[in-house]
Amino acid sequence: MPPDCQNPKIGENWTVLFVSISNSLRTMPLIVQKFGGSSVADTQKILGAARKAIRAAQAGNQVVVVVSAMGKTTNQLIALANEITERPSYREMDMLMSSGEQVTIALFAIALESLGYKAVSMTAAQLGIKTDSSHTRARIKSISTERMRKALDEGKIVIAAGFQGIDDDGDITTLGRGGSDTSAVALAAALGADECEIYTDVDGVYSTDPRILPEARKVERIAYDEMLELASLGAGVMHSRSIEFAKKFRVPVQVRSSFSDTPGSLIVAEPESDDPVCGAAISKNEARFTVIGIPDQPGNAMRLFSAIAEAKIPTDMIVQNIGVEGRADLSFTVPATDQLAAFDVVNTVVKEIGAKGASSQDDVAKVSVVGLGMESQSGVAQKMFRAIADKGINIQMITTSEIKISVLVSRDDAPEALRAVHAAFELQNPPKRIHPLKSQPSTKLEGHELEISRLTGMEDIIIESIHCNREESRITIGEMPDRPGIAAEMFEKIAAAGILVDMIVQSCGREGKASISFTIPRTSLDKALAVAAALTEEWGCSLLLHDPKIAILSVRGTGLRSHTGLAYRMFKTLSDGGINVNIISTSERNIGISVDDGNGEKGLELLKKEFVGEMM
Ligand code: ADP
Ligand code: ASP
Ligand code: MG
Repeated sequence: MPPDCQNPKIGENWTVLFVSISNSLRTMPLIVQKFGGSSVADTQKILGAARKAIRAAQAGNQVVVVVSAMGKTTNQLIALANEITERPSYREMDMLMSSGEQVTIALFAIALESLGYKAVSMTAAQLGIKTDSSHTRARIKSISTERMRKALDEGKIVIAAGFQGIDDDGDITTLGRGGSDTSAVALAAALGADECEIYTDVDGVYSTDPRILPEARKVERIAYDEMLELASLGAGVMHSRSIEFAKKFRVPVQVRSSFSDTPGSLIVAEPESDDPVCGAAISKNEARFTVIGIPDQPGNAMRLFSAIAEAKIPTDMIVQNIGVEGRADLSFTVPATDQLAAFDVVNTVVKEIGAKGASSQDDVAKVSVVGLGMESQSGVAQKMFRAIADKGINIQMITTSEIKISVLVSRDDAPEALRAVHAAFELQNPPKRIHPLKSQPSTKLEGHELEISRLTGMEDIIIESIHCNREESRITIGEMPDRPGIAAEMFEKIAAAGILVDMIVQSCGREGKASISFTIPRTSLDKALAVAAALTEEWGCSLLLHDPKIAILSVRGTGLRSHTGLAYRMFKTLSDGGINVNIISTSERNIGISVDDGNGEKGLELLKKEFVGEMM
């Protein structure tokens, strides 16, 4: 058996990925360098990148280079297909798009050879990057390192095509736009590399996209959980799934510039500071769906999300509004690129379940703040809502999780909302207290083999824990005026009363009326109700509901939101057990669902049973 990721089966299901064995046999350090599209946009840039690879080799490393398609090639290829049809088949799109990377690997190898170095280019099929068959969004199952290792041992620099994979039928797949980052970190994980360097057109990870806010600060270091969240909320500097790999396989990642030698930003386990917010992200390409008049029977919302999950469309910002006449309204967002596909699915389900109708709009954008420090510090929500309100910008939707808060605003307002929020948290300045890095990041930590050995596929979900919190109450206010400043006022007053808020969801439903729900510790219920009652009277809203005892069921793991089926499986498990879902809060590492208190323990047992195979 070769000492690498050959996936021998143990028993029936378990696959062992021999990353750590491969580490221990290797003597020379190994680094993976990834060059994005703008870093290989022309042959001069390819030669420049090749020199960086040579320097790493001269420093005594074995080097694997992962490249993207040149410049905007992938966009151009997509545009060609769209000249023929709006809906080309996904299989043929993969065949088309993957060609971009094949051009770059050959030119890169030619560049290295012209500079006197031994090199070999390899496509995903040659590399043995096996994926599932979900064309245009395939997930990596395994990587065979044998051929790469042989070439490296022959003194060659290996040039790997990013973004692509191959399925069991031998068909070419792609990993999703921006997926070369994921190829690079996955290769680094499989090879047990000492570091994965992501060379790009910025010199590191910034507190927000520096092209939108030039005042953004370059961070020295950011935690996997924070980067994963930021990436999945729109920080395009890293493909979010690459950070799932990095976190799972403990790959130290450095983001740095292709065009200079300045040190970049390190993505590792430990955060840079305790500050509640480490960064802000904007996702301009969102589409919002509102389904109105859903008959309020258990299972209806579930049918909608199951159909969307089956189409592999990621949903975010899910908010259920209080219904009228026994019917509920539901709002959620999907990436704008999935709007057409989602529309078909939603319309079919609307007819099936007898809902009143559905609409979608794509003139919206999501602005989010992220930080591990948020978990233990309060006041983040109201500060964010106030910053946005003071610009006169209306918040259309709110969802939160323990390490992020997202708001949906009109697309035109989004950059200004981002700027206001960035300034409110003073993200342009370094944190007051930067923690030194405690442990040297490494793919060779103890316990690593154990975790990896539980995976049947490299990109499989790992679930760390499932909990039930029965200490919370819920307050819901309906028929609220939908104008700027409402959320800010609400949560400032709640905070002034010394109450810590956990989950918040807000959405506007019919006739421009908003509704908001939030959870608080049971001990604060009376105080929170007094604040809410005063505000509802002031605003003239007719609906103030509360539930003194709720239970919050949480599943914690890695990459939970990007595995589109997971939240759905949670809904389905609960719905099959006759349990109604109230509030949903999602992040990449936690999905929380509030249910009636009486259903807490039962829900917990059902979820534990459902996810037993994926528990660590
Ligand atoms: P590549 O082609 O090298 O993969 P990308 O365009 O995918 O490059 O990613 C780099 C871009 O990411 C930057 O040019 C920047 O505009 C954008 N970006 C978004 N958010 C951030 C952030 N928080 N920090 C740095 N860059 C960001
Ligand atoms: N070329 C692919 C894209 O443009 C993959 C990548 O660049 O990461 O999406
Ligand atoms: Mg990229």
